[in-house]
Amino acid sequence: MFGRSFRIATISGIPVNVDSSWIWIAVIAVFSLWTRFERSYPGLGDGQAIAYALVAAALFFGSVFLHELAHAVTARLAGIRVEGITLVFFGGFTAARSEERGPGPAFAIALLGPLTSLTLGGLFWAASSVEGDGPLSSMFRYVGFINLFMAIFNVLPGLPLDGGRVLQAVVWGVTRNRATGTRIAAKAGIGVGILLFVAAAYEISRQNVISAFWLGLIGLFIFQGARASEQQAGVADRLAAATVADAMDPPPPAVPADMTLSETLDRFLRGRQGEAFPVIEVGGRVIGVISFDSARAIGSVDPLRPARDAVVPLEHVAVLRPDERLDEAASRLGSTNSALVLRDGTLVGSLTGGAVYRWVRSHARSTS
Ligand SMILES: [Zn+2]
Repeated sequence: MFGRSFRIATISGIPVNVDSSWIWIAVIAVFSLWTRFERSYPGLGDGQAIAYALVAAALFFGSVFLHELAHAVTARLAGIRVEGITLVFFGGFTAARSEERGPGPAFAIALLGPLTSLTLGGLFWAASSVEGDGPLSSMFRYVGFINLFMAIFNVLPGLPLDGGRVLQAVVWGVTRNRATGTRIAAKAGIGVGILLFVAAAYEISRQNVISAFWLGLIGLFIFQGARASEQQAGVADRLAAATVADAMDPPPPAVPADMTLSETLDRFLRGRQGEAFPVIEVGGRVIGVISFDSARAIGSVDPLRPARDAVVPLEHVAVLRPDERLDEAASRLGSTNSALVLRDGTLVGSLTGGAVYRWVRSHARSTS
């Protein structure tokens, strides 16, 4: 169901994608609206009924888009980079690193979506009462109802719904611990999913197969999203409890500081242009790193000078201690996505993004 997505627009640098499931939703929505208009207003011709159905569907999808845009704009205003909006089958999600600026902005970003739907619902409702009882007002009433439904449904307090993000931000603000907020909001999401399954079972018992199908499908979506959030919180906890020493690789080969640059180039650097190697003095103290570029800059002029003369000093190198927290270390890996691990100036290992990823994967299975 959640298959490919298509880029439909880029609005002030934010890519807007539509999931392929939207095509089917659009077909179903237009068709059911069309039959609804034909049934309620027998005086309408086919062409008019289809036109009302198309406009109603367009207003519905436009409303979903405005809901997501509200999240994205709030994130932007809070100074958070928005990676994109993807509209999925009964809503959408906005990929933004809303955890970046603390619980306050996360709260606002989550809340502005449902508030937008509520406002749109009110506006369409008001528009429907202006025009009396014709097909136009029926169309506005329908779109208004959909928006009110989206506002109410989305504030159910469980991840991955907006209400879950609000709850997550509130718990985060109160406990000053984001992982606690995530865990509680995820548990609530699992509860919401189960309640929807119960409602689906009740609908089946009353032979309402179609509403049972929708309740079950949405319940499954929420249940899975909540489980995924819970696992992420578990990973975050594990990263916070672990140290660099848990995930680091053995030390890379080191260049003796008095090896000549021509020998360093031959033995370490040729063919490994993207890499940098630690340079150590006789006592084992690391003084920096050497790369193909830094070695050749001096080595091409004087190949017999020692490696220490071409070193990039430690101040310009990502360096970690083995007892540092792994989550903080992972966020400091820098542009090369790697760091040297030093204990009292001595090389004990190296940490890369790949090593952190492998460590997380090997510890993900035991997540509660
Ligand atoms: Zn939303």
